[in-house]
Parts: sequence; structure tokens; C-alpha cells
Amino acid sequence: MFGKVLDQTEVVIGCLATLDERRFGLRVGAGLRALKAMVKRVSVRLELWSLPAEEETPQIVMLLLRSITYSCSELFYMPVPISQMWTVASYVLGQKLRGRRKYPLVLMLEPLLRCNLACAGCGKIQFPAHILKRDLSVAECMKAVDECGAPMVSIPGGEPLLHPQISQIVKELVKRKKYIYLCTNALLLKEKLEAGWFEPSKYLTFSVHMDGVEEHHDFAVCREGTFQKAIEGIRMAVDRGFRVTTNTTLFDGADPNAIREFFDQMMDLGVEGMMVSPGYAYDKAPDQKSFLKRQKTHELFQMVLSNRRDGRNRWRFNQSALFLEFLMGKRSFECTPWGNPTYNLFGWQKPCYLLNEGYVDTFAELMEETEWERYGRASGNAKCQNCMVHCGHEPTAVDYTFSGVPGLWATVKAMVFSTYANPQAKRALKEEAKKLHGPRAHLVQLGLATDVASTATEGVAEGAAVCSGSSSSGR
Ligand code: SF4
Ligand code: SF4
Repeated sequence: MFGKVLDQTEVVIGCLATLDERRFGLRVGAGLRALKAMVKRVSVRLELWSLPAEEETPQIVMLLLRSITYSCSELFYMPVPISQMWTVASYVLGQKLRGRRKYPLVLMLEPLLRCNLACAGCGKIQFPAHILKRDLSVAECMKAVDECGAPMVSIPGGEPLLHPQISQIVKELVKRKKYIYLCTNALLLKEKLEAGWFEPSKYLTFSVHMDGVEEHHDFAVCREGTFQKAIEGIRMAVDRGFRVTTNTTLFDGADPNAIREFFDQMMDLGVEGMMVSPGYAYDKAPDQKSFLKRQKTHELFQMVLSNRRDGRNRWRFNQSALFLEFLMGKRSFECTPWGNPTYNLFGWQKPCYLLNEGYVDTFAELMEETEWERYGRASGNAKCQNCMVHCGHEPTAVDYTFSGVPGLWATVKAMVFSTYANPQAKRALKEEAKKLHGPRAHLVQLGLATDVASTATEGVAEGAAVCSGSSSSGR
């Protein structure tokens, strides 16, 4: 019953959305706006109350959670559909009520490792040709999904749109009601949409790898024209009703002013939300100099994410608000390496998406046999000291949100007071505006453009950005 009413409400919302209030004059326009808001509210409430509860979770907890979720959706614009928020919240709470401390949140499913780009910061495409030619079959992918049981599945690579059966993989995941983030550089997105490979679904999101404004993105992925190609793909996907997000990896020398401009551009394009993370220093990546160290990461993210007034409050991030605070140095989180387990051509990768310390055949073996205490910053492991990447630390932030009142309160606060006024960061942004960044700074570093070098602020060349991409984008 709920389902039918919900479908009809969505049709009404669709029709209303096409009406431009400004055309109807002040009075009728205001009435229309109010009507739209009311119908939307009814839809959110219906959707929320028709969602199934996690098994074994007491009714009273579910009631409480439904009320909190509804209040949050009323107060703020939520960057993910309420059904996804609900699924994740009830899943995490269910794990906690069962006393399960180690549980997966997002499965990183890599069905192939080859790509149609060759970014210098990529840690995935250096395998020999016979490996790069291989694909996981649909059955292998589904076996991993069922074993793992995480409510969300991220599909990085390589470039997943090169997988001949990617549409079948997506269909099977939708059947299983998994929330999918198909991570792509979008070079083939328009072509595949035109060929009818995918249908819009609340379960499917295209997460497009974008490393900044046009000049910086093309430089980071080492090929001109990729930004415009990706924009074409994003536009078509948004127009056809697909959920679209962007994912951006920041490296040393990134221009914080340009990143802020880029966030504005992406919101104007109509994407649902954005994801951002520092890059990880893959030891296989050709460019080792550009990876961010911990203190520099905090400084960069403070400049990028603070002072969000002047229209920037409209930035929507499709990730935990507490993880963003962690990047800004406002919180301290340890890594949760089992939160985003990785399955690829070789099996289940130990211990995380970034490190490769062997493979096992089953998810159960991964959870039981990995010496988890050897990883994370507190372990003293040198490979983890500068890592602040989302796949290790976002699950910690989500877990903290549902660990009790302090976590919930911190999350609500981060969503309500999202301006992050910071005069020091504002001053630093102004200073950054005087420096050279990206490709131009790279020319200075190589000594290829003395004319540019002569106008550069002292110290620009040091730590300048060089060509470095991100996995498309499990990162
Ligand atoms: S800190 Fe980073 S590299 Fe170390 S286990 Fe966690 S995610 Fe992996
Ligand atoms: S970083 Fe992503 S887009 Fe670039 S080569 Fe690697 S997988 Fe491809």
C-alpha cells in the first residue's frame, strides 16, 4: 500500500518539479513552492515509514531512529536519498546491537584493473598485461557481495565501464538492493548511456573521478580533453535522472582556491553530492613526491572546507560530515581497515584497499586471519602514518556517529553549523591565491618556463603539484 502511494507521490513531485514558480508571478509562485515542499515532505515520510527494519533490531530503536532520520531530513538538505540513509543507519545499529565490533560498511569490488587512462598517481594499472586483460565474472562478483553482506558496494578499478558485463553486475546488485557507487573517469559514460547499458535507480550512483577545474583535472589524469568529456557524461546522466556524484583526490600542491571554484562548478552541474579525500602514497605510483603528509593535509582541507558562507553552504558532500572534520584536523580517528574490504581478481585483499599484503579466498578468512592490530596509525606501521584516506577512516566516522549520544550530537552539529568560520584559513587562502599551482607550477619545477618562474612567489616550486591521478576512483 505504502509503495503505491509512494509511486503516485513521486509522479506528482516529478510534474511539480517541471513548473517554474517565477513564471506564475509572486503569489502563485510562492503557493507552488509551498505545495512542492509539502508533497516532498509527504513523500519522505512515506518512504521512511515503508522501509523494512533491520532484523533483530528492537521496534523501539527503529521508531526512535525513524523519528531522528525524519527530523534530520526536515532540517537539512540530505545529500543521499532517505532510503539509503535509513539502510545504512539501521544496518550499523543492527551490528552494534548484536555486539559485532568488526563489520564491513562498503565492499570495494574491483571487477578489473585495466583503464583507458594512465595517471601518474595510479596504484592499479601497473600490473602485467595478462592480469590487466582479465575480468571478474558476474558470478564471482555476486559471490563476493553475498559473502560480505555490506549494504553499499563501490565499484572502482581500473575503469569499470570497460568491463563487458558491467551492466549485468549492476542489475544483479540492484536486485539485491545494494547501494552502488560505480566509480568511473566518465570517458565512456555518454556512449554507454546512449547504448542503454544502465537504467536510473535509487540504488545506482555514478561516482565520477574529477580532480579539479579543467586545467588541473586534465593535467592530473595526464590527458587533455578528459574534463570536458567527463562533463558531457555527467550532464547526460543528470538529465536522464541518474544519481551522480563526483570524487576528488587531493595531492600536495593542490590549489585550494581552484578546488573551491571546482566545487561550485559541480554543484551548478546538478550533481547530488561530492566526495573528497587525500591521495595515498602508493609505492607503485610513478609520482611519489606529490602525496600529502598529515599536517599538510589538515592545512589544505582547512583552507578548502572552512568559511563556507558566500553561497558555499550549498556544497553537498556525499560522505560523513565527521570524516570531513577529521580531514580538517578537528577530530582524531583511527583507521578501520575492515570497514571497506576489497575483492578483486586475486581474491580478498589484506588488509585494505590501499595496501596489498596478500590475498585470501573468502571474506571469513579475511576477517579472521588478518592481524588487524598491525595496521592504523596507532600500530606504528610506517605505511599507515600519513594515511588519512576515506576507505580507512570514513567507516570510523560512521561508526562513531552511531556509538552513542556524543557521536549523534557531533554529526547533527556538523550538519547544522557547516560554515566553519576560520579567519586563519581565510588568510591562508588569500596567500595561496598569489602562488602558482598545478601545471604552471610544474613547468616552473621542471625549469621549462622561466618567464612563469620569474613571476612566481618564492617557494612555489617546492612541493608543487605534479601529474598525479586517482583510481577512478576507489582511491
Ligand atoms: S591507515 Fe590507510 S594504509 Fe593503513 S590500514 Fe588503514 S587504510 Fe590501509
Ligand atoms: S587513477 Fe583511475 S582513471 Fe587514472 S589510470 Fe588509475 S584507474 Fe584509470
